Amino acid sequence: MKVLVINAGSSSVKYHLYQMPQAEVLARGVVERIGEETSKLSHFFQSKTHTAQTKVEDVEKAMELILKTLASRDVGVIQGISEIGAVGHRVVHGGEEFTGSVIIDEKVIASVKKFADLAPLHNPPNLAGIQAVQRKLPGTKQVACFDTAFHATIPKIAYMYGLPYELYEKYGVRRYGFHGISHRYVARRAAAIMGRGKYDINAVTCHLGNGCSITAVKQGRSVDTSMGFTPLEGVPMGTRCGDLDPAILFYLADKGYDVKSLKILCNKKSGLLGISGVSNDVRNLEELAKKGNTRAKLAIDIFCYRIKKYIGAYCAVLDKVDAVVFTGGIGENAVFLRQQICTSLTQIGVQLNRAANQAAIAPVPAQPQVQAKEAEINTKDSRVKVFVIPTNEQAAIANDTYELTREKQAIMSKQNHKHTAPLSKPANKRAY
Ligand code: ADP
Repeated sequence: MKVLVINAGSSSVKYHLYQMPQAEVLARGVVERIGEETSKLSHFFQSKTHTAQTKVEDVEKAMELILKTLASRDVGVIQGISEIGAVGHRVVHGGEEFTGSVIIDEKVIASVKKFADLAPLHNPPNLAGIQAVQRKLPGTKQVACFDTAFHATIPKIAYMYGLPYELYEKYGVRRYGFHGISHRYVARRAAAIMGRGKYDINAVTCHLGNGCSITAVKQGRSVDTSMGFTPLEGVPMGTRCGDLDPAILFYLADKGYDVKSLKILCNKKSGLLGISGVSNDVRNLEELAKKGNTRAKLAIDIFCYRIKKYIGAYCAVLDKVDAVVFTGGIGENAVFLRQQICTSLTQIGVQLNRAANQAAIAPVPAQPQVQAKEAEINTKDSRVKVFVIPTNEQAAIANDTYELTREKQAIMSKQNHKHTAPLSKPANKRAY
């Protein structure tokens, strides 16, 4: 079965076409700069690259281009789009409604729309991707994989804020958490590497990319995470501030900042960029720090310190920790940063193997077909394992999509065979 995985954002749509259950990537690519004068398609297939510049107005047009490219005679990998058996979508916000991935029906679509209020930048393009597939591939099963779903197991003591309870009841103000597909994937990979079952691991998983979040995983389930009501909370990120005393915002409001400028300040001008004043990219900051730029060094030091604080707090939450896992663009590549964080974690039982840490880097971008490798970077006598595990959200989505649609197909054909009514209960609320 061929499964198409879609990650639709407001300015780009990423895609992967998988042959399942082998999880072989047949083609992948991205349409970028959607809505601009010229958009760009980058398409990778059979060790080849195809690029094209064209105007792509919106997500629907991007989906048209992707489907056309996948089935094109020159650069395509399928004879026709009817070969696509199912489509899996990354959906950022599932509110409190979804504890796992689900087959998309009208009720799920209504929920994705409803939660656009909580994720106004993300859920609308996710939904546009789903609706484009409904139009272009009518009848094809679609699955929604929510970034929030893995965190549905966080207990109330961890997800409630110290605000009046009515705000939770009336507006849903609580911790939701994000990057769940990634945290779930790396926690399960860590368990597999250790030769354990997926519910037999306690870990602190650190997803460090442009956005950063840290999760406490107890017996394979999320029990706390650093991102909160929105992806702004937690450790400082590339351009986001992370945890703040909320009174700072009232103070700035008194100084003349309005809501719009505070949003821009906290989301786009803070974090590594705001502290250093020069860059949100740890590669640049490392270079500059080496050359003596004190603000670049300060940004890195604050970033590492705050990550250490979260790891320490989650060790207390978990009682016993088997592994710390690094993933995301920074977690997978920034050797010096992992070293700085891990060498300050000796008191919780982390002993870093510096040579193994140095060796754990992703392949250069010029080799897009090469998969980054998983690595264990602790010494033999380290009480806590430390892993670098390249995240693979698309593989997790492909897998969920395959499992859900295959299961449904099997049940339906069995029922049809028995001449009974089709399934009445949707697969919502399905736990992983
Ligand atoms: P996103 O959250 O948008 O998916 P990524 O996970 O790709 O982002 O992370 C992007 C960040 O990863 C960059 O801003 C940069 O700080 C860091 N990064 C990427 N490549 C490297 C590298 N080779 N060395 C160190 N840091 C890197």
